[in-house]
Amino acid sequence: MSVLREAVAPEFTAPVLIVGGGAAGLVAALAAAEFGAEVVVLERDALPRGSTALSAGLIPAAGTRWQAACGIVDDPETFAADVQKKAGGAADPRSVAAVTKGAAGTIEWLADRHGLAFSLVDDFDYPGHRRRRMHGLPTRAGAELMDALLEAAQRAGVTLVTGATVTHLHADASDAVRAATIARPDGSTELVGCDVLILACSGYGGNPALVARHIPELAGAVYFGHAGNRGDALRWGEALGAATRHLSGHQGHGSVAHPAGILVTWAVIMEGGFQVNQTGRRFWNEASGYSEAAAAVLAQPSGVAWNIFDSRIAKVARQFEDFRQAEAHGTIVAAESWEELTERTGLPAIERPPTTGTDAFGRDWSLTHRLVPPFHAVRVTGALFHTQGGLVVDEAARVLRPDGRPLPNLLAAGGAACGVSGPSASGYLSGNGLLTAVVLGRLAGQVAASEHGMV
Ligand SMILES: Cc1cc2nc3c(=O)[nH]c(=O)nc-3n(C[C@H](O)[C@H](O)[C@H](O)COP(=O)(O)OP(=O)(O)OC[C@H]3O[C@@H](n4cnc5c(N)ncnc54)[C@H](O)[C@@H]3O)c2cc1C
Repeated sequence: MSVLREAVAPEFTAPVLIVGGGAAGLVAALAAAEFGAEVVVLERDALPRGSTALSAGLIPAAGTRWQAACGIVDDPETFAADVQKKAGGAADPRSVAAVTKGAAGTIEWLADRHGLAFSLVDDFDYPGHRRRRMHGLPTRAGAELMDALLEAAQRAGVTLVTGATVTHLHADASDAVRAATIARPDGSTELVGCDVLILACSGYGGNPALVARHIPELAGAVYFGHAGNRGDALRWGEALGAATRHLSGHQGHGSVAHPAGILVTWAVIMEGGFQVNQTGRRFWNEASGYSEAAAAVLAQPSGVAWNIFDSRIAKVARQFEDFRQAEAHGTIVAAESWEELTERTGLPAIERPPTTGTDAFGRDWSLTHRLVPPFHAVRVTGALFHTQGGLVVDEAARVLRPDGRPLPNLLAAGGAACGVSGPSASGYLSGNGLLTAVVLGRLAGQVAASEHGMV
């Protein structure tokens, strides 16, 4: 996974070459194809899934027609302020402005031009978002998002080469990327030239050594993202002289059913549920966010906790495919009373939060529904979902050197680029992952198509 400097003479050159066929790569390909460029996407897996297919596929956007139809008044400035508040002001303001301004247009473009059937999640709040602005496809599953993007890419004439792991980039003395070597499953290698290269091969969650170096608090934790995301963009970018930022930034999640390994939506908490540890005690302000919940849960005895909620909340959560799977798998316990729930979970007792006011952890319960029987509980653990640090890009997704100058023909989007979450788990606002995948992806595709042939 290195950058080689010797001259190469590829037999075929793609005007726009994209490494990685997840949301970022496919959206970039759609945008570049729309601008008339010939696009080739190289994807290591036989069937592109990426972390995108593992996700809930929810993308935040402000000022969309779906929000308007629900009477929600929102704008990119309010959205940007929410992103920065969660990131503690540490996110690059140019990136934040680019993605929050571009989100509504990108989702409407995906719907209108490419037939993705978005709707608004209008029945619960995500932590840190002052407006309801999460948009998703009917099943609220990233697999449906991937399927829809793959179909759109096929219709748009994008060439998708699967089973093509990019192992090396080839660059000239000016750091312009001239070609990529790909390894095939049968052991053979091929060389593909490029005018412009878009890195859309995500972050380094699938590389335990890089996780231990940059996110030591989650070293050894379950990695819930795509195993093939091994930090290749980061290593190539560094070798080409790119700047990197916020490598400790990441999205964790403190609600993965254990031991089933199924995501349990944080809606069960935000709608009035709470967490207790194995001794039955509450241990933190769950409304802070699910990302920081990973470390909070892993710090408890045996690294597990129980989510406690009720039937009304379960009904809201059932819109998520993975919640339905968790129920079908038998991981969710139901009981008619607190006594029965205590017995069925095996907990010594269940410490309940106050019914109003603010608790000792700082969580405000004054506007929260009181839980009523039947009650539910599920045992969960913390996991790393994906990394948020990466290559520094400008507002047009161009990869920058430490002095702020762009590299000659290199762009990055999604998990390959530094996101808008700052340097820690608590900086991750729900949806920051796909936000930078689809909006930066679209920008990267547009820029690549308009600038190919420039070096
Ligand atoms: C369980 C889970 C739930 C999530 N839910 C949400 C959500 O609801 N909303 C949200 O915004 N974010 C969510 N996220 C985060 C989101 O999934 C990611 O931020 C997003 O999918 C990143 O998109 P991407 O295209 O950059 O990466 P990916 O979708 O991971 O695609 C990268 C692709 O690059 C390929 N690749 C890697 N290296 C190479 C190589 N050397 N050569 C060729 N191909 C390569 C990989 O095989 C992969 O297909 C979630 C993540 C997880 C794990």
